[in-house]
Amino acid sequence: MANLLFDVVGNLFKKPFTQKYPYVKPIMSKDFRGKHKYNKSKCIYCSMCQRACPTGAIVVSRDEKIWTLDLGKCIFCGRCQEVCPTKCLVLGPEFEMAKKYKESLVIK
Ligand code: SF4
Ligand code: SF4
Repeated sequence: MANLLFDVVGNLFKKPFTQKYPYVKPIMSKDFRGKHKYNKSKCIYCSMCQRACPTGAIVVSRDEKIWTLDLGKCIFCGRCQEVCPTKCLVLGPEFEMAKKYKESLVIK
């Protein structure tokens, strides 16, 4: 009982472990895998990302110069980033991706 009381009083003078999100945005780790950043001008439409993606979230057409990624199907494993030869596809720090319509989850 004395230990519990000691902990309670001690915690009153410590900084909180929780963060005041969404009022204060957290700083994400450099290895965090969030929303993709795609640089269309560097993409060579090689389809390496499409082949590596385990969920079929990426669709590439070299002939039509089409590249799309459906964030609704993505599990943020980072395989697409690992295999991209031009580094035009990277997973960034953005984690707020809620949308009203699922069509809005498609990156082009
Ligand atoms: S792996 Fe990279 S360069 Fe190749 S299609 Fe995907 S995003 Fe484009
Ligand atoms: S992070 Fe993984 S699941 Fe998401 S698009 Fe890339 S390879 Fe596919």
